[in-house]
Amino acid sequence: MELKNIIFILFFILAVSIFSWSCRNLIRYMLVAKKKDDRFNNAGKRLKKVWTVAFVQTKLLRDPKAGILHLLIFWGFVLFLFAIIEVMIQGFYSSFTLEFTGPFYSVVTIIQDIFSVLVITACLYALYRRFVVHIPRLEVDKAGKLDAAFILVLIIFVCVFMLGQNISHVAKHNFTLSEYEVRPISNYLAGIFYSTESNSALSNYEFFWWAHIVVIFGFMNFLPYSKHLHVLTSIPNTYFSNLDEIRNTLKSVNLEDESLEVYGAADIEQLSWKQILDGYSCTECGRCTDACPASTVGKSLSPRKIIVDIRRRTRDKAPHLVNGETSGIPTSRDEKTLVHDYITDIELWECTTCMACVKECPVMIEHVDSIVDMRRNLVLTESQFPANLNNVFKSLETNFTPWAFNLSDRGNWAEGLNIRTMAEDSDTDVLFWVGCAGSYDDRYKKVSRAFAALMQKAEVNFRILGTEEKCNGDTARRLGNEYLSQMMIKENVETLNRYGVKNIVSACPHCFHSLGREYKQFGGDYNVKHHSQFINELIDEGKIQLKDNNAEIKATYHDSCYLGRYNDVYDSPRNSLKSISGLKLTEMERSRSKGFCCGAGGGRMFLEDEEGGRINEERTREALATGADTIASACPFCMTMLNDGVKHFEKTEEVSVKDIAELVLENVN
Ligand code: SF4
Ligand code: SF4
Repeated sequence: MELKNIIFILFFILAVSIFSWSCRNLIRYMLVAKKKDDRFNNAGKRLKKVWTVAFVQTKLLRDPKAGILHLLIFWGFVLFLFAIIEVMIQGFYSSFTLEFTGPFYSVVTIIQDIFSVLVITACLYALYRRFVVHIPRLEVDKAGKLDAAFILVLIIFVCVFMLGQNISHVAKHNFTLSEYEVRPISNYLAGIFYSTESNSALSNYEFFWWAHIVVIFGFMNFLPYSKHLHVLTSIPNTYFSNLDEIRNTLKSVNLEDESLEVYGAADIEQLSWKQILDGYSCTECGRCTDACPASTVGKSLSPRKIIVDIRRRTRDKAPHLVNGETSGIPTSRDEKTLVHDYITDIELWECTTCMACVKECPVMIEHVDSIVDMRRNLVLTESQFPANLNNVFKSLETNFTPWAFNLSDRGNWAEGLNIRTMAEDSDTDVLFWVGCAGSYDDRYKKVSRAFAALMQKAEVNFRILGTEEKCNGDTARRLGNEYLSQMMIKENVETLNRYGVKNIVSACPHCFHSLGREYKQFGGDYNVKHHSQFINELIDEGKIQLKDNNAEIKATYHDSCYLGRYNDVYDSPRNSLKSISGLKLTEMERSRSKGFCCGAGGGRMFLEDEEGGRINEERTREALATGADTIASACPFCMTMLNDGVKHFEKTEEVSVKDIAELVLENVN
């Protein structure tokens, strides 16, 4: 063993020890978060997700141009790692080389050569975009900018030193590479920098080798303190992300747990370790904020900021908590909380829970869970919520609907339609879950009637619950009132189970999602369809026959978030529309999984816009730009928001907003 190896080993031990200590601290900070969240099950499914999201990069490929570039860079870096492994092992055994891997070594060396130049160019370009062009998506605070600049410069140094090492390596071997080595760029540059008689190659090689090692160790130890921490955490974060079964569902709060002092999350201690890991994993790429409807129309909410604030708060507070500093913490820090001081109330109330952020995030961060947890704290622990929610919560509590209508009037929409309730006759194939809007809202009552008429034409044996139906609980749940929500959910589950209901159809995506996906948490396991799926099946089965009348409708379809992004129902509504003879369907600029929210989800239907523009107007503008005379929707909230948008643009004469059921009924034989 040479002196070089001994020095390297000491240096290696020091660097790895500091790195391990930093990682240990990060894990300890994560464990400050006390909310239970067991994600250690289903290793097979989780590994599959890591493969598709992290290695095949399916999420980044949603934007094909940038996605393919990113995919190439990612795999280049994976191969790049082999070169770093080789250098590390050379620290222990100077003569080590990966040459024994044969042709694979050719791939490693050529990638190493080409990538070092490409990465230097990419980093210089990234510095240019950040500091000269000022790309809005990449704009962050001063500390974030410094961090980004430092990391980019470090990466440039890693590559420059590696290239310098390889150039000297070629020269010191008299410009003759081993059998499997392929280093076209180093070869070329060696010819420029060294003459055949040069004897400085050996000393230069040693200099670059050490410089390369020092920068790699420096980079490794800077990462845990940098916003580039995601390099270490994004794959674990993907592994621990929600499995498909519970994807896009809210987790329940155990309201009977008497040990809970705070409901929801006021600070990092009330979050889960996964929510802190989300904070560690944010790359600050801004894709979430770019897709966020609230941010798009100029409101304060930025999903990226929410996640970065969780990380900032963890860094500020967790070290004191793990050191057991219950006293002695400077008063100013002690008095601060994540909610209010880092994340303002208004940001939290501006979220429509549309899931666009979650859908776009390349590292599987779950923004909505954190936002709703913080809303739960505002509502259940602090009783601090916008004033007009008082009436909404009161109505839900007394009338089981967010509007001030009587429960006794819930079934009035069906009068004279010869529709039986479960109480009258529970021998049925399917329960039509009408929902609050379908029961009380004048416009949406027409949709309930249209859908009922279609089912009657198709001779479907269906029933309604009438006055036994209560709000599905979605609005209260998304607004953070888990107590009220669970009260209604449990009563609904009791009613449904008492009648032995198995199949449910609903014309409301929020009811459809809650009943089908979230009621399982409370003992309600049903086969739930949205009416757009149900109608499409009836058409396919020939139970609904459409006229061959060339209706000449120019339509565009608006994807409801709770139908599309939440439950991947994109084709059924479109297929029903396309079945109408003469209907020409034009897609909006943002559609399907990239669809832009109407602005009403997450309880926003019942909240005022305190700042920024109106989301529904942005969406309606996009719908009108298609030149359609009909905006088709499949959700009561979307219908209200789009109708308001059409009124705002004074287009009510030319453009109508209709539900899928109405359009099909108008064209049925
Ligand atoms: S769920 Fe929608 S509104 Fe809420 S932060 Fe994410 S993108 Fe924005
Ligand atoms: S949360 Fe995800 S999408 Fe948003 S900035 Fe962070 S990494 Fe990007």
